[in-house]
Amino acid sequence: MARVLIVGAGLTGSLCAALLRKEAPRPVHLAVWDEAGDSGGRMSTARSPYNPQSTVDLGAQYITCTPHYAKQHQSFYDDLLALGILKPLTAPIEGMVMKEGDCNFMAPQGISSIIKHYLKESGADVCFRHCVTQINLRNGKWEVSKETGPPEQFDIVVLTMPVPQILQLQGDIANLISECQRRQLESVSYSSRYALGLFYEAGTKIDVPWAGQYITSNPCIRFISIDNKKRNIESSEIGPSLVVHTTVPFGVTHLDHCTEDAQELIFQQLEAFLPGLPRPVATRCQKWRHSQVTEAAANAHGQLTLHPKPFLVCGGDAFTQSNFDGCITSARY
Ligand SMILES: Cc1cc2nc3c(=O)[nH]c(=O)nc-3n(C[C@H](O)[C@H](O)[C@H](O)COP(=O)(O)OP(=O)(O)OC[C@H]3O[C@@H](n4cnc5c(N)ncnc54)[C@H](O)[C@@H]3O)c2cc1C
Repeated sequence: MARVLIVGAGLTGSLCAALLRKEAPRPVHLAVWDEAGDSGGRMSTARSPYNPQSTVDLGAQYITCTPHYAKQHQSFYDDLLALGILKPLTAPIEGMVMKEGDCNFMAPQGISSIIKHYLKESGADVCFRHCVTQINLRNGKWEVSKETGPPEQFDIVVLTMPVPQILQLQGDIANLISECQRRQLESVSYSSRYALGLFYEAGTKIDVPWAGQYITSNPCIRFISIDNKKRNIESSEIGPSLVVHTTVPFGVTHLDHCTEDAQELIFQQLEAFLPGLPRPVATRCQKWRHSQVTEAAANAHGQLTLHPKPFLVCGGDAFTQSNFDGCITSARY
């Protein structure tokens, strides 16, 4: 049975695994490895250490379905809506730019529930804390090394991590990438920002008329969401949660600073922006070094084949211009 390794348990990796399970002409052994301790990638949902039911989306906040993508990928949206994994975003988000015909969806159980759903559907053998470091060609197969433990062999490898992390891989892969492909990969760029998630005690009131707000006049804060309100979850037993996304200039300036220092600065700015905000019981600060794609790979159509046989391919949002839908496109390869 062919052994397929998907590196990355984010949207691209999980959906790729689910599609392979459904559409592969022959049975395959599917493995998904991620360096993190949980699935989600840039669609991660953090839990309060005091109440696992209190959660906050640290990366992607909602999914925008344009009329074009609705036509192309309607079945994905229909399935996720039928299962209640996605629901229409109805809570007010101030400053959100809506184009005609666009539709926004949120995930009531947190955005990472989309990824967990696809991983479950795929039946893949999912391994966390597996950081891929090297990929070598050995007798017509890929030998994949990780930070700890022995290397393993696969017939097909799909790389779904952000492009700078692909370019850091050691071994034969570094020489197999053609000059032209290297230029394509090196042309990809990402914004950087921080996300600060805050968890509050049950019963805490955050008295603002919105569920989310885009902010244009603050050097540090770009977006705030009362995350449970965004997801229409208001309960007397589960404390509210809030997420702040910083501006890109703040993210870039503090990229190599320690996360605790950045967290303190974001917290001060938040208190000045929303005076009277109660003290959270727990916080979680995430540095998104590779946040959103600002320049996608030129002339890539959802994926880039690095080697035809054995097959080595990379995909994800860097290979299209859109996020969710781009991942769906690349996962199809
Ligand atoms: C702050 C923020 C806000 C966003 N807002 C939105 C939004 O509102 N709507 C939207 O549609 N999109 C949004 N996005 C973009 C969206 O999150 C991404 O497009 C999407 O999640 C990318 O999924 P992916 O699977 O391609 O990549 P990722 O989610 O980055 O997954 C790659 C995975 O690879 C793993 N990995 C990396 N290197 C290695 C290695 N060497 N070995 C093993 N594993 C490795 C990582 O741990 C990660 O889990 C946002 C992103 C951020 C950061």
